[in-house]
Amino acid sequence: MSAKKKTAFETTCCYCGTGCGILAHTDQKGKVGVEGNPEHPVNKGMLCSKGMNLHYTVNDCSDRLLFPQMRFNKNMPLQKVSWDDALNRTAAVFKTFIQKYGPDSVAFYVSGQCLTEEYYVINKLIKGFIGSNNIDTNSRLCMSSAVVGYKMALGEDSVPVCYDDIEQADCFFVTGANPAWCHPIIWRRVEAHKAANPHVKIIVVDPRKTDSCSIADIHLQINPGTDVTLNNAIGRLLIENGKIDQQFIDDHSEGFARYKEQVFIRTVEEAALICGVDARDIIKTARYIGASKGFLTMWTMGLNQSSIGVNKNLSLINLNLITGHIGKPGSGPFSLTGQPNAMGGREVGGLSNLLPAHRNLNNPLHRNEIQAFWGGTTISEKPGLTATEMFEALEKGTLKAIWIICTNPLVSLPDVRQAERALKNAKYVVVQEVSSKPETLSYADVILPAAAWLEKEGTMTNSERRISHLAKLIDPPEEALPDREIICRFAQKMGFKGFDFENDAAVYDEHAALTAGTSIDVSGLNYELIKGLKTVQWPFPKGATQSESKRLFEDHLFLTPSKKAIIHSVEDAIMSEKPDDDYPLILTTGRTRDQWHTMSKTGKVNKLKQHLAKPLLEIHPEDAADLNIQEGDIVLVNSRRGEVRIAATLTNSMKKGVVFLPMHWGKVLNSDLNRANNLTNNLLDPISKEPDFKFCAVKVVKYVKP
Ligand code: SF4
Repeated sequence: MSAKKKTAFETTCCYCGTGCGILAHTDQKGKVGVEGNPEHPVNKGMLCSKGMNLHYTVNDCSDRLLFPQMRFNKNMPLQKVSWDDALNRTAAVFKTFIQKYGPDSVAFYVSGQCLTEEYYVINKLIKGFIGSNNIDTNSRLCMSSAVVGYKMALGEDSVPVCYDDIEQADCFFVTGANPAWCHPIIWRRVEAHKAANPHVKIIVVDPRKTDSCSIADIHLQINPGTDVTLNNAIGRLLIENGKIDQQFIDDHSEGFARYKEQVFIRTVEEAALICGVDARDIIKTARYIGASKGFLTMWTMGLNQSSIGVNKNLSLINLNLITGHIGKPGSGPFSLTGQPNAMGGREVGGLSNLLPAHRNLNNPLHRNEIQAFWGGTTISEKPGLTATEMFEALEKGTLKAIWIICTNPLVSLPDVRQAERALKNAKYVVVQEVSSKPETLSYADVILPAAAWLEKEGTMTNSERRISHLAKLIDPPEEALPDREIICRFAQKMGFKGFDFENDAAVYDEHAALTAGTSIDVSGLNYELIKGLKTVQWPFPKGATQSESKRLFEDHLFLTPSKKAIIHSVEDAIMSEKPDDDYPLILTTGRTRDQWHTMSKTGKVNKLKQHLAKPLLEIHPEDAADLNIQEGDIVLVNSRRGEVRIAATLTNSMKKGVVFLPMHWGKVLNSDLNRANNLTNNLLDPISKEPDFKFCAVKVVKYVKP
């Protein structure tokens, strides 16, 4: 082992949910360097462009928040204050609102980038001691439809597969996802597997021809929103061709008869017309799936971020269930998590409708269990506000105070003009942040400087239920503090007991104890064990010495009351904002290869700007010709909610009638007209409350300088 590796700290990449292992080290000047951990089971030493440039985000502190700041009233400027002053005042304000308007007058809006321990203490504070369920996370914007889909079909929010299933699958159905850019290390494993085994089939479903299509056997370039129609058509063909697993259906599932009726409503030709694809490609897709021994479905935001996101998820999971491709090597429904710890946040109940360890808020026994364990106040049975609901309530004035942690809603929320009005109207805004860049800061009454990656300790869980420990390598600059410590200090200022944790390990121990006897039991884990085993997949009950379940449901006993998986019959109505004469095109949004979320980290790295220096509107050449738009022309994109002014790029990779904007950019040179979410709307899936980022009606015209 080299001298460098001997002193390296093992940690995990803080970008996507792949959860790649990183070795981080400092040189004699204290500068951080990173490399892929060759012994890590996820990435085996590989890193993508974002991961391999992570050290730049830590070494450059020029944008960091260094001291607590506060304004004494809305008309005064922010000024530097002590931690005690900032937290005492915030505690006093929160107490006043709670006393006057009740506990639901305050809320925490957090992030899938928070560590498990941070999520745990915030959730404990608001649900267990303040007495409100007003905690939600930006994971609501990306994962909540998948969470509901898993719960409705399998009984719990449990990803049944592991990454090693990639090398055992011979058919991949990748839908509403571009893993070549967004989960690159997972995709490299798929690419290598396909290269070594040319018989492996890859089907990509996406209205855009993305880089993931480069190794696809079939690209189904569907019309936006038609996923359910497509999945149902494939289900029909599998049934007609006798390619279902009748034994599995009979013994381990419910709902097949109704499902069969539903999918036979449309012929494959009708479905192809609705989806805008060739019926022969749907038939070929069903043939590949029917012939496969290992069938992996993979998806992300193209399915989740929809007003019918839950239906899309259910219609996809159905394909695994009717073919019996679940709970066995190389098979299963695999939602790829967008954020590094979206799963860890859900494990501790960090959503407005959840309780720790996958307990349900609407179950009185679960509420009593948690209350008894925490020893705080009665846990409210009323679900808290979800992400977009919080901002609507701020605008209406029913929510008085919001505490925003590690997320940048003024770029990431849909209909961001509404979010601006909301923050302007809020009585009290706390922003707990690493960077001084996020737009949210200009609305803050209090700014709390937080420690960044490598400056604090904790754990995260990746897309395959793998828990990693993140070591602290360097101190935070000046007065910045770890998020967990900030929350615990605040809770104590509020007078609450149970927040005097000695360290992060003690928080983990408390979380682990709460999971005992549940499906995500990690009561056998602690920091020493996680570090010793390098990484661990849950469950890990007391007495375990290693991860016991690489994949879930190998016994075909699901977590529903009947122990059977539920095949839901799903209608294929599209509930999005339809194009019309005024707004004739469909806008879809998404990520670029080298940027992450709202760019507060990746935007600091010059190398990462080389791939795409500025946002562009992607438009099909025929649509552009109809609008007299040439390559590079500045265009105005309007929806019913706002405007974007941006350069256009003409590309055949777009479906005709559909335009694309990247989601990352906020203000550029003081203009916020690059922001895709000026246009998107607040339409939600009725069950998951996930917004419809992938479909809204817009018009595009060439910009003429006044
Ligand atoms: Fe980080 Fe994801 Fe890239 Fe891995 S694939 S290095 S976790 S951004």
